[in-house]
Amino acid sequence: MNITKIIRGVRVPAAGLFRNYSNDVNPLSRTVRVVTNGIAEFFGMNKTASVYPTHADIVIIGGGYIGSAVAHALKTRAGEGLSVIVLEKDLTYREVRNNISHGTLIRNCSLPENIELASYGAEFLRKARENLGEDVDVQYTPYGFLMLASERYTEKLEQTAVQQREMGLKNEILSANEIQERFPWINTSDIKLGSMCLETEGVFNSWAFLSGLIRKSQDLGAIYINAEVTGFEIEKQRDVLMEGVEPGSFERICKVLYKTPDNEEHSIKFAACILAAGNKSGEIAKLAKIGNSDGLLSLPLPIEKRGYGIYAICDEDRMTHLNTPLIMDTSGVWLRKDGLTNNLLCGHVPFTSEESKNMSEEEFLKKIIEPSVNNRFPLTIGKKLKKLTTEMQDYNTYDETGIIGPHPYHNNLYIAAGFGKYGCQHAPGIGRAITELIIDSHYTTIDLTRFSFDRIFINEPLIEFDVY
Ligand SMILES: Cc1cc2nc3c(=O)[nH]c(=O)nc-3n(C[C@H](O)[C@H](O)[C@H](O)COP(=O)(O)OP(=O)(O)OC[C@H]3O[C@@H](n4cnc5c(N)ncnc54)[C@H](O)[C@@H]3O)c2cc1C
Repeated sequence: MNITKIIRGVRVPAAGLFRNYSNDVNPLSRTVRVVTNGIAEFFGMNKTASVYPTHADIVIIGGGYIGSAVAHALKTRAGEGLSVIVLEKDLTYREVRNNISHGTLIRNCSLPENIELASYGAEFLRKARENLGEDVDVQYTPYGFLMLASERYTEKLEQTAVQQREMGLKNEILSANEIQERFPWINTSDIKLGSMCLETEGVFNSWAFLSGLIRKSQDLGAIYINAEVTGFEIEKQRDVLMEGVEPGSFERICKVLYKTPDNEEHSIKFAACILAAGNKSGEIAKLAKIGNSDGLLSLPLPIEKRGYGIYAICDEDRMTHLNTPLIMDTSGVWLRKDGLTNNLLCGHVPFTSEESKNMSEEEFLKKIIEPSVNNRFPLTIGKKLKKLTTEMQDYNTYDETGIIGPHPYHNNLYIAAGFGKYGCQHAPGIGRAITELIIDSHYTTIDLTRFSFDRIFINEPLIEFDVY
C-alpha cells in the first residue's frame, strides 16, 4: 500500500517506504524510542518522529529549483538504485511563489557553458509534459530576446554572436536602423547594434515548473522532509592523505543535522550531500567549516542573498506591441511585456559600483531605473513606475557565475548554487550534471569543470558578459 503522509501540503512517503531505514541502533534503545514515541504520539506530541530516516545515499539541502531538479535527475536515472532525501525548510515555498520575475529563459550568454545549460533548459521545458507529467503545463512561450549594445561594446557583441551561432543558436545582428524599423517604439539614438535571438528566448511559469519537478521527483521515490539544516557531523579519518592536509588530521562530513518545524532535532548519514540552498548556501557551507579553517577550507563559499526591485508600468494606452521582445538595455535595465497586457515589467541586473550599492531605493528608482526606461521606451515618459516587490537572488560575490561540483576538501559535498539570474532556467542542466558526477564520476554531456569551486582557489574568475 502506498502510504503517504502530508507534511505542509507536500506528499512525503511514510516510514515503511524508506529503503535505508536505521538498522544500527542498539535494540534496547530502539525499543525505548518506539515506546516513548508511541506515548508522545498518543498525547499528540512528536507526531512525525517515526518518519525520519537515519540513512540515505544522497541528501539534498534545499528543495528549490536546483535541489528539486537534482532529485528529479537522480531518480529518473537511478530509480530505486539510489535513495534520495530532500531537506527543505519551507515546503510552502512562500518566497518562490511570490516571485513574479523568475521564469525567463535566455540563451544569449557569453560563456559557452551558460549557452549549453540554457539550451538544455529550453529542451526540458519543451518536453515538460514528457519529463514531468501530462498534466504539467509550464506555459513556455518563446518570444524573442534583444540585447542592445552601445558603440563601446559593438565588437564584443558581434564576437559573442558569432560564438553563439557556432553553437547552433539562431541569432541576427541588427543595426540601429533595423531595430527602429522592426520596433518603432524603441529609441535607438544611443544604440549601435542589437543581437536578436528568436528561437527559444521567452517566458515560462516558474511555479508550475517547480511544483512539477517536486511532484515527479516524489513519484519517482525522492522523499521531501520539512526541515531546516542546522549543521553537519564531522568525523576524523586518520587514514586519509590529502595534499595540503596534515597526515592524520582529515575530517569528513558524514551526517547532516536538521531541525523540524516543531523543533525536533534529527540527523541523516549520507554517502553524498548536495548543497542547493540558493542564497543560504554560503551560510550552510560555513557549518562544514568551509571558510572557517585553513588550507582547502580557508575560502568561504561566496554566495549571499541580494534583493532586487521589480518595477512595473501599468498602462491602458498602448506603449508596446505584441511582438515586443525581452530587452536587455545598455544601462543594465531589463524590460519585458507582462504577458498579453500592455504593462511593462522591468528591473536591473546586479550593480557592483560602490555608488549604486549605497543608493536608497528611491534614489535607485529615480537615478537608474526611470531614466533608463524612459530613454528606451519614450512612450513611458510621464507614466508612473511602480515598485512591485523585492526578490531575492543567490549572488556569487566572486564572479557572479554559478558554482557546481565537489568541494576540494569535502569531496562528498557537491555544491550546486550561485547561478543568480539563471538559476531557474539552468536547473534541469544542473540536475543532470550533478547526476553525472555522482553516477559516472565525471561530466558526460556539458563539461562544467570550469564552474567548480577550484577556480576561486586558483583565482580564475568566469565572467558572464550581459550588459553591452
Ligand atoms: C529578480 C530576480 C529575477 C530572476 N529571474 C530569473 C529568470 O528569469 N530566470 C532564471 O532562470 N532565474 C531567475 N532568477 C534566479 C533564480 O530565481 C534563482 O537563481 C533560483 O531560485 C536559484 O534556485 P535554487 O534552487 O538554487 O535556490 P532557491 O530556489 O532559492 O531554493 C533554495 C531552497 O533552499 C531552501 N533552504 C535554504 N536554507 C535551508 C536550510 N538551512 N535547510 C533546508 N532548506 C533550506 C530554501 O527554503 C529554498 O527553497 C531571478 C532571481 C531574481 C532575484
